[in-house]
Amino acid sequence: MTIGVLALQGAFIEHQKMLKQLGVDSFQIRKANQLDQPMDGIILPGGESTTMYRILKDLNMVDKLKTIIESGLPTFGTCAGLLLLAKTVDNYKSDYLQTMDIEAKKNAYGRQLGSFKAVGKFNNSKDIPFVFIRAPYIVKVEKGVEVLARVDEKIVAARQENQLVTAFHPELTDDLTIHQYFVDMINNK
Ligand code: GLN
Repeated sequence: MTIGVLALQGAFIEHQKMLKQLGVDSFQIRKANQLDQPMDGIILPGGESTTMYRILKDLNMVDKLKTIIESGLPTFGTCAGLLLLAKTVDNYKSDYLQTMDIEAKKNAYGRQLGSFKAVGKFNNSKDIPFVFIRAPYIVKVEKGVEVLARVDEKIVAARQENQLVTAFHPELTDDLTIHQYFVDMINNK
């Protein structure tokens, strides 16, 4: 199994380290033709969504990326990656990839609570650490979207078919639950 990790900006190396611990190969995607490489899944990391999207546009990667996600490639977006996938962003006029039927709120926890840690259950798991950094949360999900985690009632992880998103950063913890879930998603495809 090989997973491509979008490596334009943000926390991509950390995802690769998690995958390595699970014995999964990965490679960095930095330009459009690398989206043609064979891969079993793709990760859109955290960072800053507007910046990441601008770089995607500058490098002519948007259409191809959207096409491979819509064609069913297992896709995992964390934080900024969640915003890139969300159909709508309630406090920002998103023209991002918009492939997933969720409404997200950008910088949802405000400036005061820019970064924080919590523990919670993911898909009925044991309690695992959640790390939030100027995180969004999901305001609303449409039919067909499964809610996988909540913190203080807010939806912070969800899945719609081949797309998995978390508002938090599992790659900044040493807990492999969520990466393992993504790998299982690929295996059970
Ligand atoms: N606040 C960032 C954004 O709007 C996301 C933060 C993150 O990815 N840690 O894209």
